[in-house]
Amino acid sequence: MVMRTPENDFLNKHLKNSLDLNIPVEEWDESQILARMPIYALESYHPPKAREDDAFGQPNGKSLHGALYWPNGGYVTDPALSSQNLADAARQYGAEFRMGVEVAEIMQADGKVTGVRLADGGEIHAPIVVNVAGPGSAIINEMAGVTEEMTIKTRPLRQEVVHVPSPEGFDFEGQAPVVSDNDIGCYVRPEHGNHILIGSEDPECDPHYWTENDTDYDRNFTEQWTTQALRYAQRVPSLGIPSKLRGVVDLYDASTDWIPIYDKSSLGGYYMACGTSGNQYKNAPIAGKMMAALIKYCEDGADHDVAPLDFQLPYIQRNIDVGFYSRKRQINEESSFSVLG
Ligand SMILES: Cc1cc2nc3c(=O)[nH]c(=O)nc-3n(C[C@H](O)[C@H](O)[C@H](O)COP(=O)(O)OP(=O)(O)OC[C@H]3O[C@@H](n4cnc5c(N)ncnc54)[C@H](O)[C@@H]3O)c2cc1C
Repeated sequence: MVMRTPENDFLNKHLKNSLDLNIPVEEWDESQILARMPIYALESYHPPKAREDDAFGQPNGKSLHGALYWPNGGYVTDPALSSQNLADAARQYGAEFRMGVEVAEIMQADGKVTGVRLADGGEIHAPIVVNVAGPGSAIINEMAGVTEEMTIKTRPLRQEVVHVPSPEGFDFEGQAPVVSDNDIGCYVRPEHGNHILIGSEDPECDPHYWTENDTDYDRNFTEQWTTQALRYAQRVPSLGIPSKLRGVVDLYDASTDWIPIYDKSSLGGYYMACGTSGNQYKNAPIAGKMMAALIKYCEDGADHDVAPLDFQLPYIQRNIDVGFYSRKRQINEESSFSVLG
């Protein structure tokens, strides 16, 4: 369920795209929102504010009047388990995994990648290397020496995610959908144990905590945790906020325009699938298929920079211009420049 607000143009474009693509979507009014989420209050608080702002927590006199609901939408509550499932599936196709080793060098000769050298000195030889280092992607691209021509860069961005219990008497885990609510700058979804997971939609008033690398950053909660919990309490006045802080502190691999890079590079045989910007988890299977097609296209001799690959989505038979995800694209000004992509 995504709240319709003036700031997202009441999702008119999303509604049109969904109808064009035959994606089931429902237009909900206030009474339908409240029937599904009786714990909700629909006062508007836009724009989201910092806690120091005197107007923090004060409604602006307006109300939200509707939402779009996509009944086929879903979420993954256990990304570790789902990653393990994907790894098991890959093993059945012959993939091998080396856990707990660090790539320390991208080996190359004559303008082509030849493999990777590990921190323990071991070498893995390969004609194709793909950078899927997540928030470590910028470091790996630097190692490969491919960043100079890139207009889109990637950087690790620290994020805090809040877990709080549902208000008593409401089955949040069983009844609540995933919600995106830019009126209060939060997204939420159910979490195990009838908990609520509250993430940030990165409103302008919040500071961005960029980190130097993907290993050395503060893993403790800060004031941001409480800010996000209080913002959601604007929508759910009965929300209790415990004194024991629970949740997740981790890093996005944020790209310059918050859209991923799925591309080749200036180094032969070296590819990248990175800049996932907090929003590409469920795209992973199709991103993998698209990368495989891109690698074949380039290794067969095509110049993807000049004539970008047209990739057909296998289930809906629609085509994607893979050049959209180019490392050398113009910054996409239509982006939300947030986790919403
Ligand atoms: C707090 C948070 C919430 C998120 N919520 C959502 C969501 O709701 N929906 C969604 O779709 N996406 C979400 N994401 C984004 C999602 O997690 C990423 O898009 C996804 O994990 C990217 O997968 P990946 O395999 O490309 O990279 P990662 O999962 O980051 O994996 C990269 C791996 O590379 C390893 N690595 C890095 N450098 C080296 C090196 N030098 N040598 C060896 N290994 C190395 C790392 O250790 C890591 O294991 C969220 C991300 C965060 C941080």
